This record gives sequence, structure tokens and C-alpha cells, in this order.
Amino acid sequence: MVDQTTAAAADTEDGEILATIDKWLARDVRPHVLKLDHADEYPHEIVAQMKELGLFGATIPVEYGGLGLNATTYAKIVETIAETWMSLSGIINSHLIMSACVARQGTPEQKAYYLPKFATGELRGGLALTEPDAGTDLQGIRTRARRDGDHYIVNGTKTWITNGIEGSCFALLVKTDPEANPRHKGMSMFIAEKGPGFTVSKKLEKLGYKGIDSAELVFEDYRIPADRLIGGVEGQGMQAALGGLELGRINIAARGCGLAAASLNDSVRYAQIRKTFGKPIAEHQAIQLKLGEMATRLQAARLLTYDAARAYDRGERCDMEAGMAKYFASEAAVANSLEAMRIHGGYGYSKEYDVERYFRDAPLMCIGEGTNEIQRMIIAKQLIARNPA
Ligand SMILES: Cc1cc2nc3c(=O)[nH]c(=O)nc-3n(C[C@H](O)[C@H](O)[C@H](O)COP(=O)(O)OP(=O)(O)OC[C@H]3O[C@@H](n4cnc5c(N)ncnc54)[C@H](O)[C@@H]3O)c2cc1C
Repeated sequence: MVDQTTAAAADTEDGEILATIDKWLARDVRPHVLKLDHADEYPHEIVAQMKELGLFGATIPVEYGGLGLNATTYAKIVETIAETWMSLSGIINSHLIMSACVARQGTPEQKAYYLPKFATGELRGGLALTEPDAGTDLQGIRTRARRDGDHYIVNGTKTWITNGIEGSCFALLVKTDPEANPRHKGMSMFIAEKGPGFTVSKKLEKLGYKGIDSAELVFEDYRIPADRLIGGVEGQGMQAALGGLELGRINIAARGCGLAAASLNDSVRYAQIRKTFGKPIAEHQAIQLKLGEMATRLQAARLLTYDAARAYDRGERCDMEAGMAKYFASEAAVANSLEAMRIHGGYGYSKEYDVERYFRDAPLMCIGEGTNEIQRMIIAKQLIARNPA
């Protein structure tokens, strides 16, 4: 690890918790990553350790049994985890977005019942927004919840749902009024626990992001009690989804920083060991140019990420800051992972090294939690709104 580029070096106040996470990653995670990732095997033992560490309650308020960490500390933890194995950060991220939806918009009863169970990891899950025909255009979803006495009956399909197989509970975005105009007024969010009518139809195979499950979920006359409607009022689903996505984008940015840092750190190490033409490749100017760019990109990505996290912690609207951080850090991850592969030469393409995994994992950061095309549009819209002519 290169000291000046570690997340821990950025701030000392979070030093203790980051040191604990670092120690755990080095001792219990790092030795197993290559095998688990190539086998695409769910890391059950590691997830049990994550429960022990309290990571499933990282951002859940202390009064509900969570660690109550702010977004800035959480981003640093995510960066550190992603530096070792990006997939692990996905196991807690979408779970914590679901938790944030309940913490921000749930009724007092929903918070009292669900948040302690989410914090311990007794109930684990994620966020079910995307459908086969609607990802970016979430208002185009077709999953329908129809009121039937003190229940709703849900029909539809969700796809690409992280933790879909291993998780038991999901923040589920549906249409309660498909005719509503504007469309978002007919959208609602439920806390949906697995049960009759709620099935996993398939595991989705991916380029990277191995070990963690991505699944298609099918709802066929799934009956859900009306008191699972988040906030107890129809029509607030889009608001819940977008509120959760701000934290989600900061998380993706932090994951991008982790991948960009891992790519840089491996390259700095390798460039000093690998020799060509009688000297370490680190002494060739062409390699130095790459390292210099990679380190600068990482530092810029980190500063944007912490800036967004601090704005979130201050309770400010931060879609522009989170969008900038997500966009820049994910592109930094893609660029750094490709440069790491070039610096490692043929070994960068080998499954015996971590570099090929960074390269497979990084592009997802450009897609998840709103594509980078959309981030730039969000940034521009906010820029104009904040600077009227
Ligand atoms: C591994 C993985 C895990 C995921 N986990 C989850 C999860 O846990 N929960 C969940 O709900 N979803 C999840 N997703 C889904 C993810 O959020 C969507 O894939 C993403 O939002 C993009 O949606 P889409 O794939 O339907 O692409 P589309 O929306 O069809 O977009 C296709 C292309 O068109 C561009 N585009 C779309 N609209 C516009 C526009 N107005 N202007 C300019 N360009 C535009 C997009 O940027 C993209 O380049 C996951 C996806 C993957 C791959």
C-alpha cells in the first residue's frame, strides 16, 4: 500500500475505524479474493464477519442499533473495501440505500421495526428499481401495486437487482397509479420481504462484480401488507428512490476511488520491481507519465468524493456534487485500471494478478446508480438552476 494515497491518510479522525477495517481486509479478505472472484462464489464467511463489524448498520442511526457513521466516514470505508475487493462494497451499499429510504421517509413504526433488523444484518437486501424495459427512465417502470383491502397486490419484474438471491428484503419501486400525470406522482416504494409470489427467476452472469449476486426478481400476485408502503402515503416512491441515490452515488464514487487507488498502488509497486533494459520500468519516463497521471486522477476523484459526502452530511442538496464525484471517480477507475494493465504488460492480463479484476470491475461504476451520461446532464441542470441568467 502506498501511504500517501490511502484513504486513511486523508483524515485522522476516522483513523480508528479505518484501521480496524484495514486489518480485517488484510487478514480475512485479501487472501481469499482471487479464488472467490474467479469462482464467482458468494463470500458467506466474509459476510458473517461484516455483520460482526457492524457494517450492515454503518450509516443507520445509533438509536436504531447502527454505527451512525456520517457519509464522509462511510465513503472512506467503502473506498478501503473496494481497494481490496469492489464486490464486497456492493453487499452493504444497496442494503444501506434501502435502509436510508426507511430512515428518511419511513413511518415511526417502520423505522422501529426495520432499522434494528437492517443494522444487525438479520434482514439484508437492497434496492429494486430497474426493470427489463426501464433503467434510466425509472418513471417508465411497469411493476404495478393494486390496493386490495389492507394489502396491495404486486405484479411485475425487476432486473439487475444486487443481493437479489442472498438478500431477503428490498425497497421496491412500483406504480400505484399508472395513469398519474406527472408520472412520478403515481409511484410508490414498499419494503418487500421475500414470500409467496416473490421469486428469484434467474442469476445474471456478468463481466465483473463477481461473487456478489445480481438477479431478476418476479412478482406474481405478491400480497404485501399496506403498512409496508414507505411513509404510508402513495406517490412518494420517486422521491424515496432519488433521495437514496445521492448516498448511492457517493458510494459509487468511493468505490471508483478504491479501484483507482488499487490500480495505482499495484502499479507503483510493480514498476519498481519489473526491469527492462537494465533498470526498473519506474525509471522509464513513459511509465512515470502514467503514474503521475494516475495519482493526480485519484487525488482529484477523492477530493470530489469527500466534498460531496460532506455536503450530504451537512444536509444540503448535493445532486450536483454527488454527480460530479460519481462521474469523475468512475472514469478515473476505468482509466487507472487500463493504465495498470499496460504497466503490468502481459501479467496485467493474467488471472494470477488483481489488475485484470480492476479492469473488469471498473466499467460498472460508469453505469450503476445513474449512468455517466445522466450524471453530466444532472450537473448541467443544477449548474443552470444555481446560476440563473
Ligand atoms: C451489475 C449491475 C448491478 C446493478 N444493481 C442494481 C440494483 O441493485 N438495483 C437496481 O434497481 N438496478 C441495478 N442495476 C441497474 C442499473 O442501475 C441500470 O443498468 C442503469 O440505471 C442503466 O439502465 P439501463 O441498463 O436500463 O440502460 P438504459 O436506461 O437503457 O440506457 C442505455 C444508454 O442510453 C443512455 N441514456 C438513457 N437515457 C438517456 C438520456 N435521456 N440522455 C442521454 N443518454 C441516455 C444511457 O446513459 C446508456 O448509455 C444494476 C446494473 C448492473 C449492470
